[in-house]
Amino acid sequence: YVRFEDVQKSYDGETLVIKNLNLEIERGEFLTMLGPSGSGKTTCLMMLAGFESTTHGAIYLNEQRIDNVPPHKRGIGMVFQNYALFPHMTVSENLAFPLKVRGLSKSDTEERVKRALEMVELPQFGDRRPAQLSGGQQQRVAVARALVFEPDLVLMDEPLGALDKQLREQMQFEIKHIHDNLGVTVVYVTHDQTEALTMSDRVAVFNDGIIQQLSTPEVLYEAPDNAFVAQFIGENN
Ligand code: ATP
Repeated sequence: YVRFEDVQKSYDGETLVIKNLNLEIERGEFLTMLGPSGSGKTTCLMMLAGFESTTHGAIYLNEQRIDNVPPHKRGIGMVFQNYALFPHMTVSENLAFPLKVRGLSKSDTEERVKRALEMVELPQFGDRRPAQLSGGQQQRVAVARALVFEPDLVLMDEPLGALDKQLREQMQFEIKHIHDNLGVTVVYVTHDQTEALTMSDRVAVFNDGIIQQLSTPEVLYEAPDNAFVAQFIGENN
C-alpha cells in the first residue's frame, strides 16, 4: 500500500540521514517508526507526506508513485506534536478549514466536522477556541482535523509527546480505537518503546538512518535481531 523503494535522504549533499530504505506498509496497518533522536524517523514521515524531497529512490502509495506529487494532493492526514491549531478560529472552524481549501460544500463540511468531533468524543466543544481546551482536548482536535477529510492514510509524529503520562496512555487507547474502527492506515513516529509496543501491528526500529528490525511487537520483544534493538527495546521497560 505504501512502499519506500531504495530511498535515501541527504540534507547537506554529503551525509545520508536515510541510507537505503526499503519498506512496505500494508493497507489498514498500524506501523510505528521507533528509534532514538536523530535516527531518521521524522525525515521518513516528511518524505511520505511530501514536505521533504527524496535524494534517491521512489515512494509509492497505492501503486502510484507519489514522491513528486505536492503534499496537498497526496490525500494524507497529519498530526504533529505541537497540534498547530489556528488560535483565532473555533474548533469547528479549525476542522472546516482543510475541507474549505478542498472546495467541499457547506453542508458536507458541517456533516464531516460533526462526525470528526464525535469520533474524538468532543461533540460539544465545536464553538470553543483552542486556548479554552486542555492539552489533551487540543490534541484530540488535532486528530479530528487529520481525519476530517477521511484520508486512507494518517501520519502521526510524536502526537502525544507534549502530554503527561496518564493522558498519554488514555490518548494511546483512543488513537488505537479510532484506527481499529476506521480501518485507516497509520504511520506513527515515537521514541517511546512502550508506546510503540502497545499500539502497533508492526514496529520498524530505526538507528542511524537504517531500519534495524521490522517485526511485530511480540517478536521484537522476544527475539531482537541485534544488540542495538535488544538494548533499545529493553530501556524503560
Ligand atoms: P527526533 O526523534 O529527535 O525527531 P528523528 O529520528 O525523527 O529524531 P530526524 O528528525 O529525521 O530524526 O533527523 C535525522 C537526521 O537528519 C538528524 O541527524 C538531523 O540532525 C538531520 N536533519 C533533520 N532535519 C534536517 C534539516 N531540515 N536540515 C538538516 N538536517 C536535518
